[in-house]
Amino acid sequence: MQDKEGLFVFAAEEVQVDTDLKAWKILTVEDDLDYQNALVNSLKELKAKDGYKYELLKANSVPEAALALSMHPDIALIFIDVVMEEDDSGLRLVNTIREVIGNAEMRIVLLTGQPGFAPESDIMKVLDIDEYWNKSDISAEKLQSIVNSNMRTWEYISQIKSAKQGLQLVLDASRSINGKHDMASFSYAVLKEISNILKITEGGGIFCSSNVNPGSESLILSTHGCFSGTKGQPVEPNLPAEMLQDFKQATRERRHIFSKNHSVFFFETHTLQGQDTDYITIVKSDNPINEQNEYLLKVFSENVSTGFANISLLNRLTELAYTDVSLNLQNRNWLTREIKNMNAHERLKTRLVIFDIYQFDEKAFTFGNDFCNKLMKLVHQSIVDSFAKYEPRIALISNKTFGMLVSVDFDISDAISYFQNKQKFEIEQVKQYIDVRILELKLSAALNLTPEKVISLAESSLNYTVANQAKYIQHTEEKTDQITRRYELMAELRTAIGNKSLEVALQPKISLSTLKPAGFEALARWQRADGSFVPPDEFIELAETAGLINELDHVIFEKILETINQLKEQGCNLPVAFNASSYDLVEPSYFEQIKTKIEEYSILPSMLELEVTETQAISNYSLIKEALERFIALGMKVSIDDFGTGYSSLAHINEIPSTSIKIDRYFVSDLEFNDNNQYMIKMILSLAKQFDFSVIAEGVENEFEAQWLQQQGCETAQGYYFAKPLFFKDLIVWLKQFEVSANE
Ligand code: C2E
Ligand code: MG
Ligand code: MG
Repeated sequence: MQDKEGLFVFAAEEVQVDTDLKAWKILTVEDDLDYQNALVNSLKELKAKDGYKYELLKANSVPEAALALSMHPDIALIFIDVVMEEDDSGLRLVNTIREVIGNAEMRIVLLTGQPGFAPESDIMKVLDIDEYWNKSDISAEKLQSIVNSNMRTWEYISQIKSAKQGLQLVLDASRSINGKHDMASFSYAVLKEISNILKITEGGGIFCSSNVNPGSESLILSTHGCFSGTKGQPVEPNLPAEMLQDFKQATRERRHIFSKNHSVFFFETHTLQGQDTDYITIVKSDNPINEQNEYLLKVFSENVSTGFANISLLNRLTELAYTDVSLNLQNRNWLTREIKNMNAHERLKTRLVIFDIYQFDEKAFTFGNDFCNKLMKLVHQSIVDSFAKYEPRIALISNKTFGMLVSVDFDISDAISYFQNKQKFEIEQVKQYIDVRILELKLSAALNLTPEKVISLAESSLNYTVANQAKYIQHTEEKTDQITRRYELMAELRTAIGNKSLEVALQPKISLSTLKPAGFEALARWQRADGSFVPPDEFIELAETAGLINELDHVIFEKILETINQLKEQGCNLPVAFNASSYDLVEPSYFEQIKTKIEEYSILPSMLELEVTETQAISNYSLIKEALERFIALGMKVSIDDFGTGYSSLAHINEIPSTSIKIDRYFVSDLEFNDNNQYMIKMILSLAKQFDFSVIAEGVENEFEAQWLQQQGCETAQGYYFAKPLFFKDLIVWLKQFEVSANE
């Protein structure tokens, strides 16, 4: 039906109420009310495609149109009259839609009542105006075709846009779950992201392992939305019948199941060990899940599957990093992590107890590795049993040591003695008495140390006490300071040796018959950056422990050679003794290195004397014998230092290749009042005479000692009474009193 102008039908307005149909919105913007009514009535006559209806909106001015647009951002098609308040009102509105609001999907049809007034074609293009019509040219038929074609385009564009948004959502969701590395936060993120993709507002989800074993129940591991609060509970009673049915079917058929208002995702994971765990994610949606969402969820679930596999793998790797594989016990890394995870308060309230198996290596050698593994398992069990009520955290921290963390609130001394009384184990019919030494360290004594250092500190502290064989040792703060200082010193010493910043002091040796210098002993000196000197006894032992002694002695030896040449320049040609460690002497290349250096500095071997302590010489006798012989053959003197302290050696004195002995200062001190020491020195002197050794007494501190030694026939002496060890400059001044000349 057409009106008198043959264009629109003016029909009575009636409202269609079919709420199930999806609305496609059409807005007309027109200031000519008659024309608008005609247009709207004609639009009402049009039939939308199945399942859809048209919803018609009207605006009579640009401001009204702006209001309608803000209230209905999903308008599909808009008819705009070009000329309204202004000549270009319509065009400005189009510009607002495209540029300001940024709506690119809305289809726009421009209308004009003035034939010949058409916007430039480039404006049409830029503003993406779909069609331009003369009002008088729009018949009902034309209108039908305009609406149909624009609606089709709008639908396509909208679908593409929502697919794009959906994929973006999946992409964002995948990115968000990929950042999670533990099962709890990962599964929660998965539930949250699925809810996002489905735009769920009132639903929710649960995550659980599928019940692979028929007898066992599936427990809820993570929840979201309406399922909050069910974590840890069994799945079955928490699911409505329909969902439970699909849950069971998904588990049985190992696949995803999508239904209108919920979906069940089945994820399987494979680990390297082949221990597979399957997980189910169930999501209840208040929005019906359409085809497009289902597709998006499938894409997303691919990413989730990969994520689950990665997390299982990561969990297994983490487990391996914190487990001793051969004994299947928690390891040192685990204990370190336990300490690391404590806050300061917890640390204050915790003690670390170390159980160390004494002479373990000997047992391993005698009985083999398997036996020792069994032994360690038994000791572990015994620790677990003895301390069970204190909820200990126990780890194997070396092949023969366990570390245990317990609270300081308990008195565990009973448990310790109970454990110590039980130290008899039987393995393969072999009864073993195990000597376990225990050290207790309160973490409060080591608050500013890293967890790794805390454990090392406890071990060092235990080793410190090896000598006295104590079975139960309590670590004190004082010991922390000692050991910490030791670690720091070790690092500094390494640097000092590397920089060759160690110095040499020379202590004169005096001929007791002439009371003039007969030679010097070179002694290493180490001055720290703060100006303090570290006693040689301390840093030499440190260098030996840290394996730095060879390097240290080489640095010192080269300085000694330089000093000998400097003394020569000053007209002093006396021999210099240097201290060698048994670590040097057992080194096959040591002799050649010394020989090469002497030649390099053009120094005669007779100008040098090697000192090695009696204790080191005796305990490494067979290994160093040959080296000592080679030094003597070269023309160097070799003396046994600190003689008398290694007692047993008196009988072996002639077996050690040497030319002289140095009586230890222990026997010299207190000589005036100590008959035993006098007796001892007399014996050493007669022994030396018998085997033709020259003798020097160390640590001579007063006139009595000097005279007594001289009367007994001791040739040479060294000690504070004559001179302390002196640096080169001071030595030159000291030497002046003797006017030592090159020919003396
Ligand atoms: P040592 O070889 O027995 O050196 C003698 C030590 O006795 C020196 O201690 C010296 O300062 C000290 N002394 C000398 N006269 C007296 C005295 O009248 N009274 C007292 N109470 N002490 C006296 P120092 O310099 O502390 O050296 C200690 C030890 O360090 C040395 O004992 C030696 O075994 C070792 N040592 C020193 N320098 C080196 C080195 O370059 N290499 C190696 N391997 N060991 C070294
Ligand atoms: Mg010495
Ligand atoms: Mg000595």
